[in-house]
Amino acid sequence: MTVRSGSVYLIGAGPGDPGLITVRGLEILGRADVVLHDRLIAPELLRRARPEAALIDVGKSPANHRASQEEINDLLISNAMEGRAVARLKGGDPFVFGRGAEELDACERAGVPCEVVPGITSAIAGPASAGIAVTARSVARGFAVVSGRSEQRALDQLEDLRPYAHADTLLLLMSVARLESIARTLMELGRSASTPIAIVERAGMAGERTTIGELQTIAAVARERDVRSPAVIVIGDVVRASRSADQRLAGRRIVVTRPRGASSELADGLRRLGADVALAPLIEIEPVNPKIGWEHSLSDINWIVATSRHGARGFARALRRADLDARAFAGARIAAVGPTTAREFAAAGLQVDLTPATHRALGLITEMQVATPAGGRALFARGSLARDELVDGLESVGIEVTPMTVYKTNLVDPDDSVRRMFDTGVDATLLASPSAAQSLARAGLIDRTGLAICIGPTTASAARDCGASNIVVAKDHSDHGLLEAALASLSYEQEIAS
Ligand code: SAH
Repeated sequence: MTVRSGSVYLIGAGPGDPGLITVRGLEILGRADVVLHDRLIAPELLRRARPEAALIDVGKSPANHRASQEEINDLLISNAMEGRAVARLKGGDPFVFGRGAEELDACERAGVPCEVVPGITSAIAGPASAGIAVTARSVARGFAVVSGRSEQRALDQLEDLRPYAHADTLLLLMSVARLESIARTLMELGRSASTPIAIVERAGMAGERTTIGELQTIAAVARERDVRSPAVIVIGDVVRASRSADQRLAGRRIVVTRPRGASSELADGLRRLGADVALAPLIEIEPVNPKIGWEHSLSDINWIVATSRHGARGFARALRRADLDARAFAGARIAAVGPTTAREFAAAGLQVDLTPATHRALGLITEMQVATPAGGRALFARGSLARDELVDGLESVGIEVTPMTVYKTNLVDPDDSVRRMFDTGVDATLLASPSAAQSLARAGLIDRTGLAICIGPTTASAARDCGASNIVVAKDHSDHGLLEAALASLSYEQEIAS
């Protein structure tokens, strides 16, 4: 298929995820001379245009009209008439409330060839992203897609909504601002007050979030959660039927404490289950570079120990900086407190000999004692805020410990967005280290954590010392364990099941 100069291509770019454009759409985008795009088009997608192509943002935010429809039509036509291949990238599908028909008409009137490349509409893909199927056997035979606005007029009156009120599944676009009156009108038209309703914000984009309620309560819930456009509103039993698409944490507000800069697969996992997640960088890990010196005498050491991934990473770094490798302590065994720490050693080419089956620090002490009953010497790669419990415990079983501080833990003040999250109430806060608890306490937030879900007993006892009250300890001392613990204590299932 060709891409011709002097033509306009009205391309549906899909609902937000840059992967959801058609092959034909991407082909044209990669060859166009000019790209006119809406506000919500993913930057990753725009990078697929040729470097020489002119990119023109004609997006309109409700408050700030950037280009009128006439101006857009003129730009399409004039660029085509000057012999360029013009890609007009529109969110979702160009013919679903996209004013694509107007642009097509304008081109035809001007005698400019125009091809329409359909796209995936947010009306269907938005709900799908939240695990909601718009039709489902014996639940919904069909759906109606309605815009909450037309010709700049709100569509919330009885007569406007009457034809759609009893659609099995009613999908509303551009309706967040009128949600309250729309919900009221639908009830006046006889739709049950307990009809389930879901609002999917920013489907397929950063910050995707789903809010669930019933027709009579949704306006209050949406206000409380500050639901904003762009969002697709889904009304009907499919919302309940789609629980199998796992949304057990729908609407739960969870804070994940994480070192600044750390990526968070945990947060992504929670979001996929429907949770509203805030990342709180309450600590910062700063590498320090200890010199491996005579006092560490690696050649006659029996154990290398780390109790966090940063400890393992820091030890490997110190080794590299000293131009050493594993031969320097070939006789030593390596002990890691848990699987995450063990993986970090493995990433540095160091195979871990001992990971306690249970009880973290305590397990480490007993299993090390069993492995070397005669005691011995251990090098403990740790952070600046490490507690002395492990050192004391190992010494009590005859293992002499040389601590080596390989990273510094700085407590970071929460920023405004984190404070706002705590101010408006959270269901749970996930803590992966004692320092995260200390940081929360220092910021005066420790009594607002909701459930304090701790990665292990050491973190739990630190949280308790800092003043946290509702403490849950993950069974598996890993990110996965934190997620399981959140599911076990916050699942939404009982409440939504009818
Ligand atoms: N042509 C587009 C719709 C344009 S109207 C399509 O087919 O998807 C703009 C409205 O679409 C928004 O107000 C919102 O209701 C919806 N919308 C577009 N992208 C969305 C997204 N990523 N998540 C949720 N809603 C979205």
